[in-house]
Amino acid sequence: MTQAPKIGLVSLGCPKALVDSERIMTTLRAQGYSFSRDYAGADIVLVNTCGFLDSAKQESLEAIGEALNENGRVIVTGCLGVEESLIRETHPNVLAITGPHQYESVVSAVHDHLPPVPNKFVDLVPESGLKLTPRHYAYLKISEGCNNRCSFCIIPQIRGDLASRPAAGILSEAEGLIRSGVKELLVISQDTSAYGLDLKYATSKYRGRDVKAKFYDLAKELGELGAWVRLHYVYPYPHVDPVMELMAEGLVLPYLDIPFQHASPNVLKAMRRPAHQEKTLNRILDWKRQVPDLTVRSNFIVGFPGETEEDFEMLLDFIEEAEIDRAGCFKYEPVTGATANELEGIVPDEVKEERFAQLMEVAQNVSFHQLQKKVGRTIEVIVDDVRPEENRAIARSKWDAPEIDGQVIVDNATGIKIGDIVSVTVTDNDEYDLFARPATH
Ligand code: SF4
Repeated sequence: MTQAPKIGLVSLGCPKALVDSERIMTTLRAQGYSFSRDYAGADIVLVNTCGFLDSAKQESLEAIGEALNENGRVIVTGCLGVEESLIRETHPNVLAITGPHQYESVVSAVHDHLPPVPNKFVDLVPESGLKLTPRHYAYLKISEGCNNRCSFCIIPQIRGDLASRPAAGILSEAEGLIRSGVKELLVISQDTSAYGLDLKYATSKYRGRDVKAKFYDLAKELGELGAWVRLHYVYPYPHVDPVMELMAEGLVLPYLDIPFQHASPNVLKAMRRPAHQEKTLNRILDWKRQVPDLTVRSNFIVGFPGETEEDFEMLLDFIEEAEIDRAGCFKYEPVTGATANELEGIVPDEVKEERFAQLMEVAQNVSFHQLQKKVGRTIEVIVDDVRPEENRAIARSKWDAPEIDGQVIVDNATGIKIGDIVSVTVTDNDEYDLFARPATH
């Protein structure tokens, strides 16, 4: 029997790029290709690149270089793929270059350079496709592109305007994932709250019913499938308000990932961010009153051009007043092609460093106090890893997204398995994590 051609895959960038990698893998696997975990075992290497920040571009170029050195036969795809001349300048020998979401182009480039071998013994692809995340959670991409034009971002140039998937397709995918063992769905896009706008909220038939391509309707339908549903990249628009009911009912996790980026009206204006800042603080406080367990995760940029000490203080106050439970922070860096590069008022690197350290300290404080409130409570956690030698399980609460948030360290974890959802009692906390033991009934 002829051996299946082997592909090596290097996946860089955000969860959205990871979903693209999964789709490419699924398609190729269905066509009889297999995958190699190392360069040496691969007949060809696919590098799925990120082109968001200049540092990410650099990382992508280095990854392409490494794949060329180690293997020699390389196809490039993903966000950096739109800058073909930049890639060719550094790496003239790559076999082919395709852009983001061009699944067919990547697959046909693979066919050109490594034709598939027909093999009737090839396994069927699992119903859920092939996933790069552990079996118990999965990212669910509901749209591509973005209608906003934030001045520091080139995603709309790379990925185009908002293009939402019809609700029925998303729900069928979610159902398939749950059937194959997924217990947590992480809903992603560039702007989740804008879902369906481009489709004029058109309905599609799912299980004989008409479901609107609308943020609330989709969240409710997903919630009713029975898995944990976590919403990422949501902006605080008024139409997000009704989703609080779904959280209060337990259909959707009490968790929102809202990339605020800043809190000062001047900086937000220069960033050309969506949503009105004046109302944001009140809206968050109101949401937290309705859903006392709501955890808000956010990301912030310090050192944006023109950011004054006063703007920065305003940001720190916002993090404290809104009790931003989880905060990530970037030091601003220019992105080639972004309009923010023309702004005046460059903030010196040492000021950026200082502000970064100060913000992280404030954020850690808030996080510590928010987590402290959970001590003594009995909560459900999902298990990501087990360490039998320490009798420990590494889990996450409903307030923690994988990779970016904290963990719940469970001791006395005999019998607990990866993917289990178990009840634990929280015994302690630090700035990011909770410590717990199995709940006694
Ligand atoms: S919302 Fe702004 S930062 Fe996010 S993808 Fe759209 S343009 Fe970029």
